[in-house]
Amino acid sequence: MTPQVTDPPVTEHGGGVWSIKVPIPDNPLGFTLVHLLDTDAGPVLVDTGWDDPASWDTLVAGLAACGVAVADVHGVVITHHHPDHHGLSGQVRDASGAWIAMHDADASVVRRTRSNPPDRWYAYLVDKLTAAGAPADHLAPLLRARDEGRPRKLPGLAPALPDRSITPGELLALPGRRLRAVWTPGHTPGHVCLHLEEDHPAGLRGNGRLFSGDHLLPGISPHIGLYEDPDSETVTDPLGDYLDSLERVARLGPAEILPAHQRAFTDAPARVHELLAHHEERLTGLLALLAEPLTPWQIAARMEWNRPWDEIPYGSRTIAVSEAEAHVRRLVKLGRAEAVPGSDPVAFVAV
Ligand SMILES: [Zn+2]
Ligand SMILES: [Zn+2]
Repeated sequence: MTPQVTDPPVTEHGGGVWSIKVPIPDNPLGFTLVHLLDTDAGPVLVDTGWDDPASWDTLVAGLAACGVAVADVHGVVITHHHPDHHGLSGQVRDASGAWIAMHDADASVVRRTRSNPPDRWYAYLVDKLTAAGAPADHLAPLLRARDEGRPRKLPGLAPALPDRSITPGELLALPGRRLRAVWTPGHTPGHVCLHLEEDHPAGLRGNGRLFSGDHLLPGISPHIGLYEDPDSETVTDPLGDYLDSLERVARLGPAEILPAHQRAFTDAPARVHELLAHHEERLTGLLALLAEPLTPWQIAARMEWNRPWDEIPYGSRTIAVSEAEAHVRRLVKLGRAEAVPGSDPVAFVAV
């Protein structure tokens, strides 16, 4: 038998739902699961995938394998603004005239990304990391980038502006389907899950199916950092938001979860329980570390990651500091830790 390596990677989930594995180049996640939902008004996508020619070709081939021409796509529902989910949305809209729907909080991030010059972003990062106690060698490349004003060569620099808002708690206007938006902030401020309130096509017990984006994945804990916003002084609590959002999703009791990475799975409450326990454990560990005052950088360097701190690459360290800060924020919010008055860079200590 000839191996069918060229077959588009499509899975039929039944009940007018398919998923297409759209590759993310040079990324350990491997692919985004773009979901296709049949409606009486035409095919609708949940997320679109990374903005890359090979990813686009895979998406188009995957749609074709489902009998759909990209020109016929009616609408695009975005779980959150990250480039592995929203990257190809503009191209889908250009090819089809489809609308793009997104929660307003993530639409604000998109507007900010489009309007902020790159040097503003570098200046913000330098300030943030300096305040978090980052050492000079970590700051040096960012300072160079800021001062040289070199253009930011990052994906998602000009993400597509959405045409529609996703209103939490409401059904989306999709003829013939019951798809309800569930606001699940945490991974991003405007992350939504989409609850397909229809009987499971294979008769699995539970309450419909849930397109969970990055909020609930079977084998990965999604990144929870700060909602980085150079224009806002608001002290947010993304980890607190995330934990609340997890409980909201568990209460729905869906029969099956259709996430945006990895694979479909069942028993959402059990997975939610694992993730709640994981963050509880991290918070407890952090509290023990804070027996002595530590800056966010020192906290990140002492927290447990998937490899020793010395082996964590440069860009991931910046992300790790953001994740450490999100955990400290939670402890401060709970009254378990506080900033040491007058410390600069700011240090936190258990109370
Ligand atoms: Zn994401
Ligand atoms: Zn993702």
